[in-house]
Amino acid sequence: MNQASHAHGNATPAIRVRVSGYAYLVKYDNGISNGTHVVRKDRTCNCTAGAECQAVQEVQAYLRAGGERAPEIPPGFWPYVPEKCPVCGAACEAAPHYDRSKSGKGWRCIAEAGHYFLARLRSGRAGVQP
Ligand SMILES: [Zn+2]
Ligand SMILES: [Zn+2]
Repeated sequence: MNQASHAHGNATPAIRVRVSGYAYLVKYDNGISNGTHVVRKDRTCNCTAGAECQAVQEVQAYLRAGGERAPEIPPGFWPYVPEKCPVCGAACEAAPHYDRSKSGKGWRCIAEAGHYFLARLRSGRAGVQP
């Protein structure tokens, strides 16, 4: 959490944020922060830093400054493997054999494989629920 301030010097790194699909692309043009990070709407980054990634902070700042928001993800559609199971909160892993154009990325709850189907079932009925 407190890793936000180890930037060297005062130079503001060239950072660009833009919407791409249901996520944000954060691009560092200074060459030191290994290129492009993809920050998802659940505030995790696709890099190994995950939710701790500096790019997640960049997206927050971008949105606070009035940046364009990524579109809401339709219920029952997963543009990427969720960080946590929407049913029980356990970790998820990719399940490419469940990839579908209608439901997006397939995933599997490591605690209970049936949760993927439960989540799909619930979302099918819960289009207007939060
Ligand atoms: Zn990252
Ligand atoms: Zn689960």
